[in-house]
Amino acid sequence: MRRCLTDDRLERLVRGRAPWWRAFFWRRHLRGCARCQARWQAAQADEHLLAELRQAVAGPIRPSPLSTARNAQGMVSLERQG
Ligand SMILES: [Zn+2]
Repeated sequence: MRRCLTDDRLERLVRGRAPWWRAFFWRRHLRGCARCQARWQAAQADEHLLAELRQAVAGPIRPSPLSTARNAQGMVSLERQG
């Protein structure tokens, strides 16, 4: 049985920062491993939240960055429940 992906590798996959030949093997492992799939989905949700926060900080002025962060968190918890 192949070894599971490390957190670092999962993160690089989610961010698209892995070399394609590595991503190929990592994704192949993901397809066959429910545990890594769950971790990958959680990492993706975190990445979405971070992207939302970055947008809230760097983007145009919004009514309240804090409420944006709360909304993003709510979306993540909904995704995790589903
Ligand atoms: Zn695995």
